[in-house]
Amino acid sequence: MQLSVVIPLYNEEESLKELHGLLSKVLQTQGYTYEILLIDDGSTDKSWNQISRLAVTDPHVRGYRFSKNFGKSQALHLGFKEACGEVVMTMDADLQDNPEEIPAFVELITRQNYDLVSGWKRKRYDSFFAKNLPSKLFNWAARKTSGLKLHDFNCGIKAYKNEVVKNVDVFGEMHRYIPVLAKNAGYTKITEKIVQHQSRKYGQTKFGMERFINGFLDLVTIWFLSKFGKRPMHFFGALGVLMFLFGFIAAAYIGGMKIYKLIYLYEPARLVADDPWFYIALTSMILGVQFFLAGFIGEMILRNGKQKERYRVAEKI
Ligand code: UDP
Ligand code: MG
Repeated sequence: MQLSVVIPLYNEEESLKELHGLLSKVLQTQGYTYEILLIDDGSTDKSWNQISRLAVTDPHVRGYRFSKNFGKSQALHLGFKEACGEVVMTMDADLQDNPEEIPAFVELITRQNYDLVSGWKRKRYDSFFAKNLPSKLFNWAARKTSGLKLHDFNCGIKAYKNEVVKNVDVFGEMHRYIPVLAKNAGYTKITEKIVQHQSRKYGQTKFGMERFINGFLDLVTIWFLSKFGKRPMHFFGALGVLMFLFGFIAAAYIGGMKIYKLIYLYEPARLVADDPWFYIALTSMILGVQFFLAGFIGEMILRNGKQKERYRVAEKI
């Protein structure tokens, strides 16, 4: 099979039929052998009815329904696991991405041998302050920390070589940074392609303001994981040693000064604990040991941990 189109969706009943129509037209004109995977991320509207109907009439369609809303990342995770096509494309279900873009993406993967092609909504039809401005900031930070020169990390429309989707582990809300995950997994032939963006036709966005806080924290995590994920001791250990040394030297200085003053200056003995440095030294030594232990624990988890799936499929068609 040449192409799998993976579509995660949450409460998108109004768009599905239209999307399927547009998509099928493009894919059939191109003459691809293809499948369409519709992953219903626990919708509470009639999305699943729509999917069932499409799956009955069109053998290209496979539908999955999560038992509850697990999030876009988990929906993509399942789609990636199930996808059989040599090229795997993702797109949103809300008709903001145009299916007509697909052939160009597929070409970049098959002809130019890219591992991943990410869309770039150069002109966005979303609100400026709620989306465009913050997203510029994010993409800048993601570029700086990952070294990938992409403008729109979180674009819904992307194409991958099959091998890539089998080797990236998307979970939590990491769908925002799949190109970074791919790069970390060793797939470095990554590029972007400008796409047309349309404003949402039906329903509304499923991500509120918390996307910025979560997105920022995820970026820190991903930076940390890509740098020290396989060697936590190098981060915590270094920090621990520095803190401990600092505290130890400060403590030695306090002790030394006390003895020096006692012997040479005949000063009356003051309590070591009266010296503010004492507290700084103490805290710093304790923190140092804590960091060190965090490093050990990180290494132990690394050696024992096995990723497991974080969702449950309720139905399959
Ligand atoms: N989505 C999902 N699970 C969720 C939230 C969203 O599968 O928990 C889907 C949603 O139905 C859509 C895609 O992810 O197909 C992108 O979501 P949305 O359009 O709300 O994001 P935006 O375009 O506003 O960034
Ligand atoms: Mg959208």
